[in-house]
Amino acid sequence: MTVYNFCAGPAMLPADVMTKARNEFLNFQDLGVSVMEISHRSSPYIALAEEAEQNLRDLMGIPDDYAVLFMHGGARGQFSAVPLNLLGEGKALYLNSGQWSDAAGVEAAKYGTVETRDLRRSAGDLDLGDLGDTRGYRYVHYCPNETVNGTALFDLPQVDSPLVADMSSCILGREVEVSKFGLIYAGAQKNAGPAGLALVIVRRDLLGQADPKTPAILDYALADKTDSMYNTPPTYPWYLAGEVFKWVKTQGGVAAVAENNRAKADRLYQFIDDSPFYRNEVAAHCRSEMNVTFQLQDTALDARFLREAEAAGLMALEGHRMVGGMRASLYNAMPMAGVEALIAFMSRFEQEHV
Ligand SMILES: *Cc1c(COP(=O)(O)O)cnc(C)c1O
Repeated sequence: MTVYNFCAGPAMLPADVMTKARNEFLNFQDLGVSVMEISHRSSPYIALAEEAEQNLRDLMGIPDDYAVLFMHGGARGQFSAVPLNLLGEGKALYLNSGQWSDAAGVEAAKYGTVETRDLRRSAGDLDLGDLGDTRGYRYVHYCPNETVNGTALFDLPQVDSPLVADMSSCILGREVEVSKFGLIYAGAQKNAGPAGLALVIVRRDLLGQADPKTPAILDYALADKTDSMYNTPPTYPWYLAGEVFKWVKTQGGVAAVAENNRAKADRLYQFIDDSPFYRNEVAAHCRSEMNVTFQLQDTALDARFLREAEAAGLMALEGHRMVGGMRASLYNAMPMAGVEALIAFMSRFEQEHV
């Protein structure tokens, strides 16, 4: 039975990437050892690390005046690193749109002055509105894809200070113009690799003003200066992320996977909208193309739905405990066939229970 894994994160990786990793697991580049057993300062590893960075630069069109950092601590590590590196004695504005942006603001407030703006007209309806004059902020933080809530912001916030984005669940999933951002960060385990790695893309003129108490492993300037090897980096996740970047290139790059992502999400939302049995409560203009949340009209059937889905090879559809219901995460690695299988199951379940 083919298993489709809809987990929100750590999420499925492309089958081709996993196969390649398996094939060279014990013997990387004929060295007779695994890539995870070699020094991060050895020439084969440095070549791999540089190639991964270059491929990410190519895929996202990252300008030369931006540093690309491979860091520890996932996205939550960056919730701390961003204010420690950028906030100084100033203040920051956090745009709150869901569970993750809320959490980022709470963490940042430990380190300095944070103001928040709630973008929710309701839980499923976001509005950037007019942010007014934002020149007084050291940076403005937002989350373009709220993984838990299944909501997304497709327009960029119009701001006059550096824009910082938590792209953990949408990096490489849709096109972005990096030059519009001061800093982009992402935990790798949704769309870019396994857990344990955070990607940071930061305009270099923002570096060098970190709070003196910033832990060395969270200091962007130090990470930039040492090519993300101030200490031992998460070498295996970095290697796997590099394989994912190569895979995205073979798919035709970000534009091609983004088109596929929209097609997958459209298919599922259309099915949900057409059915009286299921519903999605997110306004059409801010529906995530990565995390599709849905509810059964009769929530008493939830447990049964999940059990039968699992038996049919459709894994990890349970919604986040804060939101309830179901969530199907359709990251880059999820093929259209997985969405078709899910819809076929949902349709069958509906017929059996109406
Ligand atoms: C998963 C996620 C996080 C948390 O990531 P960790 O690597 O577990 O810290 C933060 N932000 C967003 C948008 C996420 O999807």
